[in-house]
Amino acid sequence: MIEILYPLFVLGVIGIVLGLGLSLANQYLTVEEDPRIDAVEKLLPNYNCGACGTPSCRAFAEGIINGEVKNLSRCKPGKADKHFNPILEYLKEHPNPDGSIVDVKI
Ligand code: SF4
Repeated sequence: MIEILYPLFVLGVIGIVLGLGLSLANQYLTVEEDPRIDAVEKLLPNYNCGACGTPSCRAFAEGIINGEVKNLSRCKPGKADKHFNPILEYLKEHPNPDGSIVDVKI
């Protein structure tokens, strides 16, 4: 009977140690993301088609916020009234930490 319990005990201890390690890593190694990325991503068409040259709408939104994307029209399925203008309005209302507005246009 003890031959069966010993491996279970060892696996249980390993599971607890790894769980604690993951919990600590989650607590101390978390990278905080700019919340504007989520907001801009929601305003994009979200087809994840890659026509803009990025692998996903999220990557395109990150590029907008990081200043790598200068023209929203790179998003081919996007429409000015439905997507681009709301993004520009949102970015005007949510400037960079230094007070500047994200440099992007349609
Ligand atoms: S082209 Fe537009 S819809 Fe397609 S992945 Fe890029 S941002 Fe998303």
